[in-house]
Amino acid sequence: MWKAEQVVLTETQIRRLEKIAKDAMPFESCALLLGSVENSKVTVSDILQAKNRERSTVTFQIDPAFIFKAYQQADREGKELVVIFHSHPAPPRPSPTDLHYMEVNPVVWLILSTITNKIEGHQLLEGETRSVKVLIENNATD
Ligand SMILES: [Zn+2]
Repeated sequence: MWKAEQVVLTETQIRRLEKIAKDAMPFESCALLLGSVENSKVTVSDILQAKNRERSTVTFQIDPAFIFKAYQQADREGKELVVIFHSHPAPPRPSPTDLHYMEVNPVVWLILSTITNKIEGHQLLEGETRSVKVLIENNATD
């Protein structure tokens, strides 16, 4: 498994994630992000908005068929599933439930707090939870 030091998102992508989180309120929102990893740097190309099957304010669950389709798309387009995104009506720290699933899915986990609008990246590798830096870039002008 690759180890991430940073995730790069464009302003448009950040705004999209904020909208996904806002639209799902009061429930937690979730999305799968496709992209690529190079030298511990994660770049995002696609944001696949998912439904929170649990309609919960403290947990989320994504339909396995949706996850399978995301992997198929990644394969077809030569990308990887690089980030699992969800929102918290609380600080953007992984909950005990999150930590369990982070261990099972050791990609980058991005958590957006719908209270402070702060976004944090985390990755759990080899039993250790690490912070992943979130960099916001200006949109490409091409
Ligand atoms: Zn959570």
